[in-house]
Amino acid sequence: MKTMTCRQLGGPCDQPHHGESADDVIKAQDRHLKDVVASGDTAHEQALKEMKGRWKNPLKGMGWYKTAKSDFAALPDD
Ligand SMILES: [Zn+2]
Repeated sequence: MKTMTCRQLGGPCDQPHHGESADDVIKAQDRHLKDVVASGDTAHEQALKEMKGRWKNPLKGMGWYKTAKSDFAALPDD
């Protein structure tokens, strides 16, 4: 298991996400952004917008995704 924070994934807070793969933590971040924005948080709105844009435009999002994956690979195991 490795840990990446909301901030490491482009968000504004230090909420940690744990996962076996980069995809796990990216999905956790996606959920986290939706959850906090749904509960009225405005600090995460921009990050949520960017995340949605990546799913809509996979080609443009690919650079971010690759960076997140290599960042994750470089992390030590928990
Ligand atoms: Zn956050």
